[in-house]
Amino acid sequence: MIKTDRYAVFGHPIKHSKSPRIHQLFAEQTGQSLEYTAQDVPAEQFNTAVQSFFAAGGKGLNCTVPLKGLAWAFADRKTERAQLSQAVNTLAVQADGAILGDNTDGQGLVTDLTINHAITLTGRRILILGAGGASRGIMGPLLEQVPRAIVIANRTVDKAIDLAQAFQNKGAVSGCGFDDLQNRQFDLILNATSASLSDQLPPLPDAILAENGVCYDLAYGNEPTAFVRWGLRQNAAKSLDGLGMLVEQAAEAFFIWRGVRPETRPVIELLNSERRA
Ligand code: NDP
Repeated sequence: MIKTDRYAVFGHPIKHSKSPRIHQLFAEQTGQSLEYTAQDVPAEQFNTAVQSFFAAGGKGLNCTVPLKGLAWAFADRKTERAQLSQAVNTLAVQADGAILGDNTDGQGLVTDLTINHAITLTGRRILILGAGGASRGIMGPLLEQVPRAIVIANRTVDKAIDLAQAFQNKGAVSGCGFDDLQNRQFDLILNATSASLSDQLPPLPDAILAENGVCYDLAYGNEPTAFVRWGLRQNAAKSLDGLGMLVEQAAEAFFIWRGVRPETRPVIELLNSERRA
């Protein structure tokens, strides 16, 4: 009997995760036989749950809020981008049985921006709002695109300064509070705060978005987020949410596990049409 390879996403909460749907669509599209489920795993049960998943023959896991730091600590080996971000969203069993930890979030964001939306990052002034796990994960891949500068602004200012410090040898990066953003302009503003999840907006001064600037909220929902709506009010050339990033980071994980790169565009289009319905 051929055994179906098993994958899952662990998180808490996890009920509304789109990952099982996305991976099922990838599997159908590429003719891969696999099962992908979502499992509610609180942080205190993480190690036991991961150990039993892999002991039972599981091939790979995605980990989401609030487990990415724990997944990072769990992995036997880490890719350079996972090491830099101190967060892991993808675990994969390797040929020798070791568990590899990777972080595909940053590459997912960069692919969505540069390929799906044809947005140039090189030479651009980028503002990142928030200095949590998602901000840390996107820093490396963004800096590889050689922007003119990245400014990280956070409610807790020390966290923004510390994060900037961690990447200071990789480009022009600085950290500050929201109050320090007066009289500055950016070509791209990325909202990596979790404010959108409660329909809130980080405090932003008027005229902070340059002409033809772009707004991008890492969060996503069936309706435009507070930040996407703010971007539209600022006359952004584009004001986007993070659904494309979600699909792209999933495609990176699928490639790590299966060695096959799925086409993301039809999956993004399908998910977009479903939320418009
Ligand atoms: P964290 O909990 O690690 O960090 C949250 C950040 O948001 C902190 O910087 C926090 O500031 C800030 N924040 C929270 N509430 C507010 C508020 N009301 N006003 C201003 N700042 C606020 O979360 P993550 O970094 O893991 O996730 C951030 C967002 O990114 C979430 O919306 C998540 O859904 C999204 N995401 C999307 C992905 C995708 O594939 N599209 C992938 C990963 C994340 P402070 O430090 O002061 O508390």
